[in-house]
Parts: sequence; C-alpha cells; structure tokens
Amino acid sequence: MAEIVIRNLRKDFGDFTAVQSSSFRIDDGEFFMLLGPSGCGKTTTLRMIAGLELPTSGEIFIDGEEVGQKRASQRDIAFVFQMFALYPHMNVRRNISYPLVSQGMDRAEVRAKVTEVARILGIEKILDRPVGGLSGGDRQRVALGRAIVRNPKCFLMDEPLGALDAEFREHMAEELRALHDRMGATTVYVTHDQLEAMQMGDKIVVMNHGVVEQFGTPQDVYDKPATMFVANFIGSPSMNFLKFHGSLEPGATTVQLHHQTLGIPASHEAFDGDMVYGVRPEHVRLSDDSAYRAEIVATEYLGTTQIVTLKTFNGEVKARISSALPARVGATVGLNFEGAKVTLFDRQTGRAIRSNLNEGMLSHG
Ligand code: ATP
Repeated sequence: MAEIVIRNLRKDFGDFTAVQSSSFRIDDGEFFMLLGPSGCGKTTTLRMIAGLELPTSGEIFIDGEEVGQKRASQRDIAFVFQMFALYPHMNVRRNISYPLVSQGMDRAEVRAKVTEVARILGIEKILDRPVGGLSGGDRQRVALGRAIVRNPKCFLMDEPLGALDAEFREHMAEELRALHDRMGATTVYVTHDQLEAMQMGDKIVVMNHGVVEQFGTPQDVYDKPATMFVANFIGSPSMNFLKFHGSLEPGATTVQLHHQTLGIPASHEAFDGDMVYGVRPEHVRLSDDSAYRAEIVATEYLGTTQIVTLKTFNGEVKARISSALPARVGATVGLNFEGAKVTLFDRQTGRAIRSNLNEGMLSHG
C-alpha cells in the first residue's frame, strides 16, 4: 500500500519539456489514471514515479519519503510494462516465480507465494504449462502474476490493454479492476482512452502538452471540467462549445447569447469578455417552445439513445436524446439547455469560470 505525492514535477529532454510543473496526489489503495493524448507526458510521469527516469526538478513522495533521485530498485513498486512481456522458454510457474528466485528467496517460500498468486488470478491449473501456447487472457494473468508475487506497495501500468481488441479489452479491464479491489494496492495506470479512465479509475489526472489540466474523480472531470481541453477530451460526443461575448455578475443564473437567454449555474465569479457556453449533448433538449432555433442535419441511432446534430446560428450542436423521440433530418426545432449543468469558459485562457475553482481538485497554480 502506498500514498504517492507529486509536487512540481518537471522533466526536460534537452530543450524539450515533456512534463512541466505537475502536482497531484495518489491516495493509498487508489486506482489512479494518467490520461491524455499521445505525447502529453503520461509515460514520462509514470517512469519518474517508477524511478526509471530522474526528474529535472520537483519531488516525488512515496509514503512521505522523498524518492525522486532514488533508483527503481529502492522504491518497492512493480512496473507492469506490457502484459505480454513473458519469458517464452519458461513455463507459467517459472515466469511468475522469476522475480523471487532472482532475489534468492527460499524455494519453499517461492512455491507458497506462487500458489497464492495463482489462486488470486485463477490460473492454478496452468502453472506447469509453457507460456507459448496460452490464450491472450492467460498470458496477461501470468504477466500480472509476476508483478503481484513481489507484493509491491504499488503497481504501475502503461497502457496494459492497449493491444487488445475491444471486447477482450473490456473483459480484462473489469478483471484488473476486480483484482485491484481484492488486493487494495495502489495502482497507477496510463491510458489515452477516456472511456477506460472513466470506467476503471477512482481518480484521473488529465494531461496535455506536459501540463496537468485537472485531477479529480471521473465525475469531477466529467461534470466540472477545469478547462475546455478536458471538456473536449472527456465524453463522447464531446461537450458543445457555443461562443459568445458578454458580461457576468456573480450569482447570475442566465447569460445573453446572441439575444437568447440561456441558463447557467449560479456559482461563478464576475467576468466580462469572450466566453464559451459549454453544454454536454445529454443536456440539450429538443423543444418546440424554445426561441433558440436549429435545423437537424444528421441523426445517429445508438439503441436507446440517438445523437442528433443540429445547425444553429452559433455553429453545430449535438444532442443526445431518447431514440423514441422524433428527429427528422431537415426539420427546424427549438433547443433548450439544462442551465444547471452548463460550464462557462473564458475563451482566451480556455479555463472554466467558476467561483468554487479551489474547492475542486485542480492543480494549476
Ligand atoms: P504516448 O502514449 O504516445 O507514449 P505519452 O503521453 O506517454 O504518449 P511520453 O512518452 O511521456 O508521452 O512522451 C512525452 C514527450 O516526451 C513526447 O513528445 C516524447 O517524444 C518525448 N520523449 C519521451 N522520452 C524521451 C526521451 N528519452 N528523449 C527525448 N524525448 C523524449
């Protein structure tokens, strides 16, 4: 079990800054996701936590001890690189026991530990099989077993399900999460897949260009995005952004958007200038009595819901509505937005305008 605190972490590769001024905290026993697009610095951050890369500056605390300049072997954490990275010439038992044998552990103790790990993973029956002929799922369980058997304080995983097809990936994701819940060891998990992060994580750090945009629970980052980047990256389809210019009094519950009065949550600070009205597709309603008119240009049937694309004077808007509701391409309809669920952004900085910014778990500043 381990608590990990990252403070002002930075990594330069020559002139290039891969990670800049990152700060976040991983609580003991958490399943923690490092999420962001390719090249945003997730792997570099994970490698610094592992001790495989030394920070240029900043601190990493594991259980209160500053380990930033310590080697990987001194940190008592297990890095599950790629679940398929097994020793092909060894059987399952030898693959799992390898880390213990190489530490010089007593044979009887090794046997007992491997048996216990095999039980946890449900692979007792294949212990004496060569890894070569195993299914993908079993190979992943063996690779996990090799990490678990060391009983580390913390597991670090870098896109472990990245190479799998969608169905199997979902199955392994559930299995990994269940395993985590049984073992309770802190897990730090890198992914570029926002759905995976939302489904599996207790907390998520969203990174972009080496910067932490936000960290919080999946619900925090979905419902209260700190930036337009987060609002756009998380959710599918992503949040609608309607640009407008205006001024805002603290406590106001509406804004004027091109002569339309639209609802907003009451908690925000005063603002004057270019803003963006951010509304998720499921908070857009089609309603004949609204003066905000739009033309339906496309519909996408998704079973219980459908995504309706509408052309408005403010650009394209997507609505997620029940498939039972009529939506005909070419029809003109009115739109309502669920004001309490809206996020306003400062268009210049891309940051959310709220009065309670510090209450969340934002790491800027
Ligand atoms: P991906 O999912 O594509 O691996 P990532 O978010 O994990 O993306 P990193 O691997 O951390 O990103 O890389 C962040 C940036 O740092 C990238 O632009 C990468 O090219 C650069 N980088 C990483 N390692 C090195 C290195 N050893 N030398 C130079 N640049 C590096």
